[in-house]
Amino acid sequence: MGVYEDLGLQPIINASGAVTRLGGAPMPEAVQQAWRDAAAATVSIEQLQAAASARIAAVTGAEAGLVTSGAAAAMMLGTAAILAGNDPARMERLPHCDGFPHEMVIAREQRSGYDHAVRAEGARLVEVGFHEIVANAGVRRAEAWEYRAAIGPNTAGIVYVYSPTSCPPLEEVVACAHAAGLSVLVDAAGELPPRENLRSLIAAGADLVAFSGGKAIRGPQSSGILCGRSDLIASAAAQMLDMDDHPELWNPPSKLINRDLLGGMPRHGIGRALKVGKEEIVALLKALELFASGAYAEDDARTRARLERIASAIKSPAARCAIRETRGGAGAPLLEIALDEKSLGRTAFEVCRRLRAGTPAVYVGHGRLPEGILIINPTCVREEQVEGLCRRLNEELNS
Ligand SMILES: *Cc1c(COP(=O)(O)O)cnc(C)c1O
Repeated sequence: MGVYEDLGLQPIINASGAVTRLGGAPMPEAVQQAWRDAAAATVSIEQLQAAASARIAAVTGAEAGLVTSGAAAAMMLGTAAILAGNDPARMERLPHCDGFPHEMVIAREQRSGYDHAVRAEGARLVEVGFHEIVANAGVRRAEAWEYRAAIGPNTAGIVYVYSPTSCPPLEEVVACAHAAGLSVLVDAAGELPPRENLRSLIAAGADLVAFSGGKAIRGPQSSGILCGRSDLIASAAAQMLDMDDHPELWNPPSKLINRDLLGGMPRHGIGRALKVGKEEIVALLKALELFASGAYAEDDARTRARLERIASAIKSPAARCAIRETRGGAGAPLLEIALDEKSLGRTAFEVCRRLRAGTPAVYVGHGRLPEGILIINPTCVREEQVEGLCRRLNEELNS
C-alpha cells in the first residue's frame, strides 16, 4: 500500500496542471534526490539562504534572492520588506503601520484573492484604473498617469501582477515608482515559462519579483522565490528567519543580511510563520537549475505526443478535440475538448463533476467550462495513467 492508501485516499489523475489544490507539479527524480540528501544532514539556515541567494541572483540577474514557502509567501515577505525596510522597530510593529507609509498602489483590474498576501502585512491597497474592455464599456485600461496621481506621502510602493497582457507595461509603472523613490513588487507566480521571464522582469526594473517554485519549476509545492534588490531581500530574510539567538552571537552572512544596515537585532518577524525547511530550499534550487538550463524541454515533446494519443483515443460524436499551444509554444500544449452539450445531454460542468466522482477520480482543467470546453493539461498526468484517463473520458462523453 502507498502512503495515500494508508490514509484511506485514492491517488487521482490530475489533468489540470500544477495547481496547488491538487498537489502542485511532480518533482523530477533529481529534485526528490536533492530533498532526501538535504534531509540527511544539518546546516545553518541563514547560511543556506545566503547560498540560495547567490544561486537565485545568478539565474535571475537580481542582486539577491530568497527561497520562500510559495509565491504568495514571497508577496507577503516582499510587502513586509517594502513596509519596514531595514528598521527593526517597524519590523516589530507589522502588521500595524500607523505612523509610516503603508499604501500600496495597484491597478483595479489586477486585484485578486492572492492580494490578501499584501493586505495581510498591514498594507492598504489603493486601486487605480478601470478595465473598460471587460466591463464592456469602452477600450481603455489602467494607465500610468493614474499611478502617478495616486502616489502621495503615505504611499509605500506599487504592486504589479505581471502577465504578457498586463497594462500599462511594467516599464511604465517602474518609471512612475522610481520617479517617486518607491519600489515595485511584481507577482509573476505562474509566469514561467517562458524561461526568459526569470530575468526579464528584473531587467525591466522591478525591485522585487515573486515566482512559484511548485508550478513550472517543478520544485516542492510549498516553495517559491523572491528576488530583487539586496536591501529589500535582506529585510525579507530578517523578517522570516528564526531570530532566537543572542545579539552577541548573531552573525548572519553579510551577503544576505547586512547587520550594519539594521539598528539592532530584530525579533521574530511577521514572516516567521512562512518558514521554509532546508529540504525545500535545496530541492527548489535543484529544480530551478533544471528549469533554467532547459532540462524540461525533452519532457515537453513527450507530453505533446501523449496529448495526441489522448485526442485520438477519444471517440465521441459529441466531443471535438483540438491541441492548443500556450505561451507562444513555450508552455505545455493543452488539449481542448469542446462538447456539444445538447447532443450529449450533459453540460461540461456535469461531465467535470462526474469525472471527479468516478474511479479513478479525474480532475480536468475547468477554466472554460462555461463555454462547454474541458481542458486536458498533461503536465501532471503520468504515463501509466493515460489509459485510465481515456477510458473515463470516453465513458462520460458517451451517455
Ligand atoms: C499561483 C499563484 C500565486 C500563488 O503561488 P504559490 O506558489 O502557490 O503561493 C500567486 N499569484 C498568482 C498570480 C498565481 O498564479
